[in-house]
Amino acid sequence: KEEGRDGFSVFGGVDAEHPGTAGRLAWVDRLSEALETDRFVLHAQPILDLRSGRVSGAELLVRMLDEDGQPVSPAQFIPAAERAGLIQQLDRWVLDRAVDVLSDAQHIDPTFRVQVNLSGHSVGNQMVIHDLLRHLSQRPFDPQCLVLEITETVAVADLDSAVQFGRDVQAMGFRFALDDFGAGFGSFKYLKHLVFDFIKVDGDFVVDAPSNPTDRLILASIVGLAHGLGKETVAEYVEDEQVLQVVRSLGIDHAQGHHVGEPEPVEDLLRRLARGEAFPAKGVRAARP
Ligand code: C2E
Ligand code: MG
Ligand code: MG
Ligand code: MG
Repeated sequence: KEEGRDGFSVFGGVDAEHPGTAGRLAWVDRLSEALETDRFVLHAQPILDLRSGRVSGAELLVRMLDEDGQPVSPAQFIPAAERAGLIQQLDRWVLDRAVDVLSDAQHIDPTFRVQVNLSGHSVGNQMVIHDLLRHLSQRPFDPQCLVLEITETVAVADLDSAVQFGRDVQAMGFRFALDDFGAGFGSFKYLKHLVFDFIKVDGDFVVDAPSNPTDRLILASIVGLAHGLGKETVAEYVEDEQVLQVVRSLGIDHAQGHHVGEPEPVEDLLRRLARGEAFPAKGVRAARP
């Protein structure tokens, strides 16, 4: 059967890259079981404010633990969850947890941002709006500090509902980031119509920036555009000090990547934040010279 409704087990073929019927059925089972048995965990990756030299926020990245406790990368199971129709449930779980994390973080640093990825299937979902309203009425936190990351592929697929969703959620005080900016098509249309506060430049333009003048020109143009519109920029995939210095010299506002900090269990990041332990990793020249 094309749709994975039938309740029989399929052996083997568990492969997100080859979504055949067997693979899809196996993923439905695997994902539902992980949801039922609490085998999703949140990691967090710090984001460095290049203007202040402080870690000013973190992106939450979900991990699935397999039966044997081994973490599975979202690059594998997110597309599978989208095909299985389970992504909205997962996104709402992450949002729920994000509000807890934010409440904790704001006790320590009232301006700390928590950034959450939202699948295209959740953009426009009224249940998400409902959840956000409920969180606002139940928990004291600043909605400005919860940033929803969406990719342009999402917005391009259904621009009208993405635009309306953005307006509704912005009216509640939450903020948006355009994730993986530049990786897809239609970026300018996107900039014109969508509500957003941050542009996260795709890592593709970042990793080779020190040696590639075209990448630097593209980064500088994105910064000019973003700042002209009054928005902030984040560089992804900052993997070494040289890249950090280049993106800073181009006027990028924030940096994220292995050089600033690896994704780590969210509790660990909160603990370090509470202790006021030095962020980012040793060797990073944090403040602008
Ligand atoms: P993304 O939102 O663009 O997240 C950044 C990805 O880049 C993460 O991969 C992160 O671990 C990785 N990364 C960070 N720094 C570096 C670096 O310096 N170098 C390199 N090569 N990679 C780096 P991850 O955690 O595997 O997530 C992959 C994608 O899965 C995310 O891309 C996001 O689109 C999606 N995702 C993650 N968590 C969630 C979630 O809770 N909900 C939804 N809907 N999607 C999620
Ligand atoms: Mg993201
Ligand atoms: Mg990204
Ligand atoms: Mg990416």
